[in-house]
Amino acid sequence: MSRVYNFSAGPAALPEEVLRQAQEEMLDWHGAGMSVMEMSHRGREFLSIAEQAEADLRELMGIPDDYRVLFLQGGASSQFAMVPMNLLQGKGSADYINTGSWSKKAIAEAKRYCEVKIAGASPEGVLAVPAAEDLQLDPAAAYVHYTPNETIQGVEFPYVPETGDVPLVADFSSTILSRPVEVSKYGIIYAGAQKNIGPAGLTVVIVRSDLIGEPLPGTPTMFNYATMAEAGSMYNTPPTYAWYLAGLVFQWLKRNGGLEVMAVVNERKAESLYAAIDGSDFYHNPVEPACRSWMNVPFTLADPELDATFLAEAKEAGLVTLKGHRSVGGMRASIYNAMPEEGVQALIQFMAEFERRHG
Ligand SMILES: *Cc1c(COP(=O)(O)O)cnc(C)c1O
Repeated sequence: MSRVYNFSAGPAALPEEVLRQAQEEMLDWHGAGMSVMEMSHRGREFLSIAEQAEADLRELMGIPDDYRVLFLQGGASSQFAMVPMNLLQGKGSADYINTGSWSKKAIAEAKRYCEVKIAGASPEGVLAVPAAEDLQLDPAAAYVHYTPNETIQGVEFPYVPETGDVPLVADFSSTILSRPVEVSKYGIIYAGAQKNIGPAGLTVVIVRSDLIGEPLPGTPTMFNYATMAEAGSMYNTPPTYAWYLAGLVFQWLKRNGGLEVMAVVNERKAESLYAAIDGSDFYHNPVEPACRSWMNVPFTLADPELDATFLAEAKEAGLVTLKGHRSVGGMRASIYNAMPEEGVQALIQFMAEFERRHG
């Protein structure tokens, strides 16, 4: 067996230790005589797994008691609809900040339910976020939505927007758990699990309790946060195995020092990769330095004719899924929590060797 360094943006690499634990527990979880996949979601065993996962996530992120943690399905993309359905609460408009591909998708979906006001956007032709003082926030907006980390463009907010009494909603899909966050600044934090939490199929929603319970008329039962909050995310069958695996990842994070330690390691990983890119005329990252993502690092080669060779030789070297998103081209290295520092160093070393041979 040989494991590669997988730089996929999502579904993404999981910590090897977690996969091994899942393997050990696969056929017989803690003497239950069955796999977690085969358990009733209402049985004592699975309930203990579910409760432990929530408790560990609460501890890791310091989630205050007046927030509910929901373990849902449908991906971050379903939240693009669930957020307006649950938060408009009679208001006619919501503010959105547009910083890239995922912001645009969230905006397009919200327009089906309300007037969307663009409170700020990346400056034309520049890969950066709008300055905090340039945001045009409407105090009558139902909420403000933004994307702290644009997974495709590799653009990250270096600040948290100040929205006063208007709830702040954040699509944290590609940056949750990468560092500490002050949950109390947010009305809703949501994330598809397949980047930095666990396997695809699970969506984590952290929502302030007072925002729950006034959905738009006609909201499907499954899309009503109140339904899921009252049922402990078990109104219907939840994604049990993904929930369990996410729980193993939370325990792995706790064993490894929690989010403060993750932040130090992640910053070091990102800084060394950006330094390698900036130190060469052969590689280029187009994002404004202040807004560079710690998690998703896009880069181009001076000669795009070499892209295919780069990818093929990288694969030979055990470095895979480095192709950039089809809308951007070039390369993208996603370096979430589960990417060890050795993986980033191996990439940097490969890039230098490739440049020597082809530059
Ligand atoms: C991946 C991603 C999504 C889409 O997530 P799904 O779970 O596939 O719906 C949305 N927003 C961001 C920021 C993402 O990185």
